[in-house]
Amino acid sequence: MSEVRYERRGPVAIVTMNRPEYRNAQNSAMTYALDASFQRAVEDDEVKVIVLAGEGKHFSAGHDIGSPGRDADVSFERKAVLWWDHVGAEGGDQRFARESEVYLGMCRRWREIPKPTIASVQGACIAGALMLAWVCDLIVASEDAFFADPVVRMGIPGVEYFAHPWVLGPRAAKEVLFTGERFSAQQAKEWGMLNRVVPRDDLEKETLALAEKIAEMPRFGLALAKKAVNQAEDLMGLRSGMDSVFGLHHFAHAHNAELSGGDSLGGQDARSMRDANRKS
Ligand code: ZN
Repeated sequence: MSEVRYERRGPVAIVTMNRPEYRNAQNSAMTYALDASFQRAVEDDEVKVIVLAGEGKHFSAGHDIGSPGRDADVSFERKAVLWWDHVGAEGGDQRFARESEVYLGMCRRWREIPKPTIASVQGACIAGALMLAWVCDLIVASEDAFFADPVVRMGIPGVEYFAHPWVLGPRAAKEVLFTGERFSAQQAKEWGMLNRVVPRDDLEKETLALAEKIAEMPRFGLALAKKAVNQAEDLMGLRSGMDSVFGLHHFAHAHNAELSGGDSLGGQDARSMRDANRKS
């Protein structure tokens, strides 16, 4: 079974994460399948807008830290950064190489996709899944969608693509990080993180309607408008802020590993994170 499904409906490419049995937990196989799908959509002249969706009840539970398909020790052809392979490296060298490529690097690469992208989010959108939604230009969520970045429980100051202060505002970003609690689609909309909140049954229809409206605009104009806003965000510190926080993030991984004999996640796994998050 393929980790990602690709389909085109008129001018819209729909890229769907397809590991519903693991709540679309993102392993590297899925990451590179997403990248291949995005590249296909960019190169297809018929495609004007790209939708990123998740199969099943949930958009995504985040990075794969516990499914049988976890593939953190597998080599893939690197696409995002010019760096050596993480496989065979050790300690901080290994973690920095891997996360520069498959997390921060891939997210930055996808943010630069020259066609408008829309995340279509239902159910859980947790931790690493926030990164996927945030790199999209627009986010449409269903009323049942919920969000959280609980990685402070691991002693880590937020996920690798540290857009929190820019997409939530500084005060909401602190609340989200300090409590690790879930927040609703309505709350996310109030904080300015979402464009639309729609009933669950209408999610696909409403996302496609928005995509088709955008698809009527000229391709090059859309690409330049996207670049303009992204450049403005970078001038507001997004890119350099993220670089500086990536250092704190890796300091936290290293601290965890130093205290625990090598476990950079601070003793947390998918199960313990899920149980802790359920209590919140
Ligand atoms: Zn990390």
